[in-house]
Amino acid sequence: MRIVFKVGTATLYENGRLSDRIDKIVELLSELNKNHEIILVSSGAVGAGYTKCPLDKTKLENKQALAAIGQPLLMREYKERFHKYDITVAQVLVTAADFDSRKRSENAKKMINVLLENNVIPIINENDSVSVEEIIFGDNDQLSAYVTYYFDAGLLIMLSDIDAFYDDNPKKNKNAKPIKKVTKIKDEWLNAECDPNDKFATGGIVTKLKAAKFLMDKNIPMYLTNGNDLNSVREFLKGNHTKGTLFF
Ligand code: ADP
Repeated sequence: MRIVFKVGTATLYENGRLSDRIDKIVELLSELNKNHEIILVSSGAVGAGYTKCPLDKTKLENKQALAAIGQPLLMREYKERFHKYDITVAQVLVTAADFDSRKRSENAKKMINVLLENNVIPIINENDSVSVEEIIFGDNDQLSAYVTYYFDAGLLIMLSDIDAFYDDNPKKNKNAKPIKKVTKIKDEWLNAECDPNDKFATGGIVTKLKAAKFLMDKNIPMYLTNGNDLNSVREFLKGNHTKGTLFF
């Protein structure tokens, strides 16, 4: 199966520094790469840039500069780790406009197919440094849903800092309960306030729900789980769904 993984900033960075969770994620993807085609959508360029050059990221041009500084740093972190498993990676930077028309997305898909046929793992990110407001996704949650659909993947796995989707924001409501399976995205959920956890993050739960809705409308499952607990992914792929939320 072709599987897209989305790794969020909150998973990659801890207190402004790259977390060693990245080692575990690369290990998992290398393992799965033996039997599946793996595409990685990774956030974290702005965060990586910030470690070298702490600019005020509330200014758009600074954030774009941080993405430009951080993208090669982030790629180097992945490249070195995948190299240990003899896997080559490719950097693929996209914008929303690349998915505007069937023709453009077909062109991109052909290139992705070449990478996968050659056992290369594409690492996709939004081309933040030159994106202008009208054409940005602004978060990799929806980008990863587009990648999943337009590049013919059968499943999107989102690794976040939260272990499931809850019936209320678990950071604010201690009684919130995890939901194991979501078959319909309620409109009221999409109106909740965007609350990304990390100061570098742009997503929050709402963009994840929008991504899930986009895929559910196309009959493609999305699985949300904690990037800290990769065994939940291993088990899920074996058909044992005990943790995390399946949107399908
Ligand atoms: P990532 O960087 O992985 O994309 P985000 O910080 O953008 O992660 O989004 C995950 C965060 O969304 C959680 O840590 C949690 O604080 C917040 N959140 C708000 N409402 C919910 C909810 N109903 N269920 C799960 N998480 C929620």
